[in-house]
Amino acid sequence: MLSNFYKSTRGGVSKINSSSALLRGIADDGGLFIKEGAFEKFDIKDFLNLSYEEIAYKILKVFFDFNEERLKDSIQKAYKKFLSKEVAPLKILKDRAFIELYHGPTGAFKDIALTLLPYLMKLSMEEENTGEEVLILTATSGDTGKAALEGFKDVEGIKIMVFYPKDGVSEAQRIQMVTQEGNNVEVVGINGNFDDAQTAVKSIFTDESIKSQLKEKGVIFSSANSINIGRLFPQVVYYFYGYMNLVKNKKIELGQEINIVVPTGNFGNILSSYYAKKIGLPVKKFICASNENNILTDFINTGVYDTKRDFYTTITPSMDIVISSNLERLIYDISGEDSKIVNDLMSDLKASGKFEINENMKEKLKCFYGNYGTEAEILNAINETYKKDGYLIDPHTAVGQIVYDKYVKETSDDTYALITATASCYKFAKTTLEALGFTYESDDMKFEKILCEKTNTEIPEFIKSLENKKIIFDNMVEKDEIKNKVLSFAIGEKS
Ligand SMILES: *Cc1c(COP(=O)(O)O)cnc(C)c1O
Repeated sequence: MLSNFYKSTRGGVSKINSSSALLRGIADDGGLFIKEGAFEKFDIKDFLNLSYEEIAYKILKVFFDFNEERLKDSIQKAYKKFLSKEVAPLKILKDRAFIELYHGPTGAFKDIALTLLPYLMKLSMEEENTGEEVLILTATSGDTGKAALEGFKDVEGIKIMVFYPKDGVSEAQRIQMVTQEGNNVEVVGINGNFDDAQTAVKSIFTDESIKSQLKEKGVIFSSANSINIGRLFPQVVYYFYGYMNLVKNKKIELGQEINIVVPTGNFGNILSSYYAKKIGLPVKKFICASNENNILTDFINTGVYDTKRDFYTTITPSMDIVISSNLERLIYDISGEDSKIVNDLMSDLKASGKFEINENMKEKLKCFYGNYGTEAEILNAINETYKKDGYLIDPHTAVGQIVYDKYVKETSDDTYALITATASCYKFAKTTLEALGFTYESDDMKFEKILCEKTNTEIPEFIKSLENKKIIFDNMVEKDEIKNKVLSFAIGEKS
């Protein structure tokens, strides 16, 4: 019996089952899939003494209609790939804890969903049983690309193509991608920034002529970006896991509210925490941390989302985003699930580059706090945290740290906070070293060795494994060439 159905935020698509929504990624009307009907609500007590995998199973079956044993098996296989047995361990400090989401195969929090997504996609393909091949198209601001490539490499019946902005990723991020092995992968650099890449990829998803050309060849598109429900819901799990871990460590009482702090880009991670609250996690405030691309800070403070602004390339590349795709799901939710409002706002965005939500929605947005960290503040926060707590955080996590400090200073709210630590500092070794006061002239691979020596920390496996890898993908295209690139890869002849 199917019980989970999905519809589009824009109202043009409904009654889609969960495997079909997962395979399609984005709805045909350009909207995002959301669950129909009310959310099941858990009692937080239900999660006592459960392992990460058990919590994952309990939560994911609320969103997906997969066979019980096969879903359990998929979860087991995915999280075996993590280096920490706990999957998402906590670093507990007095007034806050960092939940380390970066112990997966590629060193960023994207692994939590992208180790599982290929299994979920295989289950969906079997359930839909259309015999079609799936082509995953993904634009990356640095971390999604590698995590998706690693998850989907050599998976039968699926091909994956990743587009990354040429100047928008760290050297370690780039090397991780362009050395990717696997017989079903393609990696392409784009002259442009992440928004250019994301917009181009999104437009391919709704391009009827490409879609029908591929359909003839038995190929359908899907997405591994955080707009996919198969990305979003696995991320709900670690908020419950982190919460229960705080209870176990006596930092909070069962049932007590926490604040959640998320360094944010495409709004996927923080939206997952919002869904966590909808299904029963006690959360007081969602603290949305941005870098100098602070469109979300302005939005949360004013209700106006205005994309007409400069784009900055920062030392937190995975947050260099102006158009946060998943925000549409929040808009839908705070509009009282009103597709007409969503359509109007999205039309405004398309026509004038901005939109403003109504007073009712502004009121509902008040459970969010938004602020941002500057480049100098980021370097300083890494240094201070290391000196004060002996704890190394990456530049993205540092943005969370900064914004949480600003929040406490402004509000004096001392509710215990859970900060998502989204990447290993070894992905950004050069910046981390600079923050700690060291500067060297050399290439990135050596920075990692220096970081290891200076801080007496271990070089993670995902960095060690890059040494001596061959560059496989060195092609770079203009935005308007993406379409042809996709066609030629999809239909077989690799260019
Ligand atoms: C992707 C990413 C983010 C932003 O997450 P969103 O879900 O896009 O908001 C933050 N930090 C790191 C390291 C990331 O890889």
